[in-house]
Amino acid sequence: MKINFAGKKALVRVDFNVPLDKQYNITDDTRIREAVPTILEILKEGGSVILMSHLGRPLEKLNADGSINKEKFTLNHLVKHLKKKLKVKVQFADDCVGKSAVKKAAALKPGEVLLLENTRFYPEEEKGDEAFAKKLANLADVYVNDAFGTAHRAHASTTIVAHNFDQNHKCFGMLMEREIENADKVIKNSVKPVTCVTGGAKVSDKLLLLERFLDFADNIIIGGAMAYTFMLAKKGQVGNSLVEQDRVKTAKEFLAKAKAAGVKVFLPKDSVCADKFAADANTLVAPSNLIPDGYMGLDIGPAAAKTFAGVIRKSQTIIWNGPMGVFEMPAFAEGTKTVAKAVASATKKGAYSMVGGGDSVAAVNQLKLTKKVSFVSTGGGAMLEYLEGKELPGIKAIRE
Ligand code: AMP
Repeated sequence: MKINFAGKKALVRVDFNVPLDKQYNITDDTRIREAVPTILEILKEGGSVILMSHLGRPLEKLNADGSINKEKFTLNHLVKHLKKKLKVKVQFADDCVGKSAVKKAAALKPGEVLLLENTRFYPEEEKGDEAFAKKLANLADVYVNDAFGTAHRAHASTTIVAHNFDQNHKCFGMLMEREIENADKVIKNSVKPVTCVTGGAKVSDKLLLLERFLDFADNIIIGGAMAYTFMLAKKGQVGNSLVEQDRVKTAKEFLAKAKAAGVKVFLPKDSVCADKFAADANTLVAPSNLIPDGYMGLDIGPAAAKTFAGVIRKSQTIIWNGPMGVFEMPAFAEGTKTVAKAVASATKKGAYSMVGGGDSVAAVNQLKLTKKVSFVSTGGGAMLEYLEGKELPGIKAIRE
């Protein structure tokens, strides 16, 4: 981080949107743990930290009388855990901009941490309201954005607030720096051969990403249900597989563009097919373009897995988004497992690998391979948009 925080109050936007159980215990504290290094660094330099975040969607789940369900959505639920992780006292302001926030922020001393109440208690947050953002900005001397997962939203606390600080008084947090650096490594400075692996449910979700891959990939591997729309584009029979009829033409055009660009596209030769979408379905292996009536492809087959793994192992840069099949059910997890292991093995031999966006992260976690790939992005939708080449408002607001 480029700012010297000594004696400064830093307003830090973190992503503390953590899952809570019915008793408001944190069930996965990844996002809190990831924010810790940035907070500790500011404290170490002699600054103080004012944390702000959203939690859930309080304005969409109001109480019957129209009031905010503060009991459910308060960030106070996180204070105890945060204190444990930081090993310093954490104060809490029960409003993010009102009197209590102003008073507590003003009294904050170097080495101290203050957590503000959920920014989404105010409709102004998601509207990106300038006046509301100014009130947040007035609490501190400098602004740090460490919430990469929300950088694609032009909300008050993620983007608009930054307009109140000049270049010497705003910067990215360490988590955000890492996410940007790793994404840039694959899209701007990648060592060839570059292989992009995509999967998951829908072509429509990944189309922009696929188009973008054409700019820098040598190989594009397509698995998951997406592959069956491509099979239709190649006049295959896909039985009851999940397809998007309205994307068949686009899939066909994409294949032509890839050919013209000299990018190799790998579709699964075979598939593990099931007679119903269930863990205990009857299964058979069939060519992906000849899936029998009454069956649906729920995983790439063994021949496809072998081909995909071979391409991955020969790559120097790998970017993976989306599972190869319905990996949540063991009967259809083999393809994703094989691909994950190939990514890990290529990484061990020196390749750079990045796993990002949604379910492939869950797959890598499930297979306990998180430490065997170069970088796992927690950026979800924001990472997808960054890779697609979009300028994320939260990033732009810090850079301009
Ligand atoms: P996405 O969020 O687009 O990455 O999609 C992930 C989801 O796609 C996972 O929940 C998978 O179970 C699902 N998926 C992957 N392959 C298939 C398939 N062949 N048929 C149906 N769903 C699939």
